[in-house]
Amino acid sequence: MAKVHKDVCIGCGTCCALAAHLFRMGEDGKAECYKQPETPEEMAAFEDAMNSCPVGAITPEVDEVATDASDDEDLKMAA
Ligand code: SF4
Repeated sequence: MAKVHKDVCIGCGTCCALAAHLFRMGEDGKAECYKQPETPEEMAAFEDAMNSCPVGAITPEVDEVATDASDDEDLKMAA
């Protein structure tokens, strides 16, 4: 599911400003995705926030996707 990786987030607040109905700042000073995007409008707002995050801390609804290049290579070989 769509989420903020708190270990990466620097707490700049951009995502909350762009999509306050999806993101909020947690008590730890890091953002959190408190509502999953469902409608086309929410998806657009989510993507806008994701693309605007300066550190790439927001990821979409694909939990199982490998972020590491070597894993990508494994996926290609398995396909
Ligand atoms: S835009 Fe990125 S770095 Fe900034 S608060 Fe949101 S998740 Fe954290």
